[in-house]
Amino acid sequence: MTQKHDNYINGAWVAGHSYAPNINPSNLSDVIGEYTQGDAAQLDAAVQAAQAAFPAWSTGNVQARADALDKIGTEILARREELGTLLAREEGKTKAEGIGEATRAGNIFKFFAGECLRLTGEIVPSVRSGVGVEITREPLGVVGLITPWNFPIAIPAWKIAPALAYGNCVVLKPADLVPGCAWALAEIISRSGIPAGVFNLVMGRGSVIGDPLVNHPGISGISFTGSQGVGGRIAQQCAVNLKKVQLEMGGKNPQIILDDADLAQAVELSVQSAFFSTGQRCTASSRLIVTDGIYGKFVDAVQARMATLKIGDALAAGIDIGPVSSLSQLQQDLDYVAIGQAEGAQLVAGGTRLERTTEGFYMAPALLLDTTAAMRINREEVFGPVASVIRVKDYEAALAESNNTPFGLSAGIATTSLKYATHFKRHSQAGMVMVNLPTAGVDYHVPFGGRKGSSYGSREQGRYAQEFFTTVKTAYTGA
Ligand code: NAD
Repeated sequence: MTQKHDNYINGAWVAGHSYAPNINPSNLSDVIGEYTQGDAAQLDAAVQAAQAAFPAWSTGNVQARADALDKIGTEILARREELGTLLAREEGKTKAEGIGEATRAGNIFKFFAGECLRLTGEIVPSVRSGVGVEITREPLGVVGLITPWNFPIAIPAWKIAPALAYGNCVVLKPADLVPGCAWALAEIISRSGIPAGVFNLVMGRGSVIGDPLVNHPGISGISFTGSQGVGGRIAQQCAVNLKKVQLEMGGKNPQIILDDADLAQAVELSVQSAFFSTGQRCTASSRLIVTDGIYGKFVDAVQARMATLKIGDALAAGIDIGPVSSLSQLQQDLDYVAIGQAEGAQLVAGGTRLERTTEGFYMAPALLLDTTAAMRINREEVFGPVASVIRVKDYEAALAESNNTPFGLSAGIATTSLKYATHFKRHSQAGMVMVNLPTAGVDYHVPFGGRKGSSYGSREQGRYAQEFFTTVKTAYTGA
C-alpha cells in the first residue's frame, strides 16, 4: 500500500475526489505515493479560508512571521538529504542536484525570515506646507501560486516565502507531475506555527485547479512559472479580471564561445548548462554559438566530454544525468531531434532513448551541428538534453545571433576578453547574463527573471520579490 497524501486547506488535511500515483521516472514500477486530486469546490474552500485568515495575518506580529519562516527553513535544511532524495525520485534530477535544490529552498525561507523585519517605506516632503507624506508597502491579499514540475521544491519555496513574509495568504497549486515535494513542504509549513488558512495546498490538474484559481474573485494576484502557452493565457485572464500577475516562462538561452575562450572551461560550462538536470532547466543553454577560430576544437572536445557522461537512475551513485521526467517530455525531446535533422541539422551525438536495468525515460544527450537561426530547433524551447551549435564569424555575429530569439531569460559568454565580456553584459537582451559561468545557476537572494517572451511582470527572488507581493500606499497627514 502506498501512502495517501491529501490537500491542506484551512489548517486541515482534506481528501479530494480521487488519488493519482506519483511515479519515479527512473523506475516506472516505483510508486512514490498517491496524491489527491482536488476540484473547484475545494479550491474555493481554500481561497475562502485564506481570505478569512488575511486580516489577522497581514497585520500580525512580524517577529512571529519571521520565526515561522525561519523554522520552516531550518527544518528543510536539516532534512535536505531526505527531501533531495524525494525530489530526485519524483523528478529525475540526480540526488546531488536534488539535495542542492532542497538546500536552496531552505536558504530561501531563511532569507525571507529576515526580510519580514526589513520592509521599509519612505517619508517625503509634501509641496504643501505642514503636510507629511508616507509611502508604505502593504500585502496584496490572497495570492495564487502556480508552479512547474522541473524545480518541485525551489520554485514553490521562492514564491511561498516572500508571499508570507510580506503578509499575504497563499493558495499553492503545484505541478501535478511532481506533487511529492510540494506536499512535503506543506507538511513542514503545517507545523511551523502559521495560523490555519494562511497557507493552503490544492493539488490537481491545471484545467481543474489552476484555471479556477486564476479566475477566482478572491484572488488578488497570480505568480506563475511554467510554459509560455499557459502563461500567456493566464496573463489574458488576469488582464480581464484586473489582477496583478507575474509570469516566469521558457527560454532558448544562448551560450557564446569566442575564439579567445579557455577551451576546457568553455566545454565544461557548455556541457553543464546544456545537459545537466537532463536539460530541464528554464536557464539551460540550448544554443551554443561558436566563432570560427575555435569551432573545430570546441565541437570535438564537447563530444569527447559528452562520451564520458553517465546517464542512469537518478538515485544511483556516480550518475551525471538522470532520466527525462515524463514520457510526453521524452517524446517531445526525441521529436525535436528529428525535426532538427529534417531541417538539415547533423546529429553527431545522442538523441536516442536509452535502456537501463529499470524501465525509465532515459535519453542520451543530443548534439546537433550545422544549425541555423531560422530552424525550429533554434527558435522553440525543447526543454530536454538537446543542444544545437550555430557557427558564426566573430563576436559581433555571435551577439546578434544570441539576441535573435523570441525569448530572453539567460545568456552566457565564454571569453578571456574584458572588452567582449563587458560589451556582452551591456548588449545581451536577456534578464540574466553570465561570463565564464553556466547559464543556469542564479543565487537565491538576487533577482531572477527574463525579458521578451520569457517573463512578464516584476522579478522574483531577493528583495525584488516585494514588487509583486506588495502594493504601494501613499498616505498624507495634515497639520
Ligand atoms: P506548464 O505551463 O505545462 O505548467 C505549469 C503549471 O501550470 C502547472 O502547475 C500546471 O498544472 C499549471 N496549468 C496548466 N494549465 C493551466 C491552466 N489552464 N490554468 C492555470 N494553470 C495551469 O509548464 P511545465 O511543463 O510544468 O513546466 C515547464 C515550463 O516551465 C518550461 O517552459 C520552462 O521553461 C518553464 N520554467 C520557467 C522558469 C522560469 O523561472 N522562467 C523556471 C522553471 C520552469
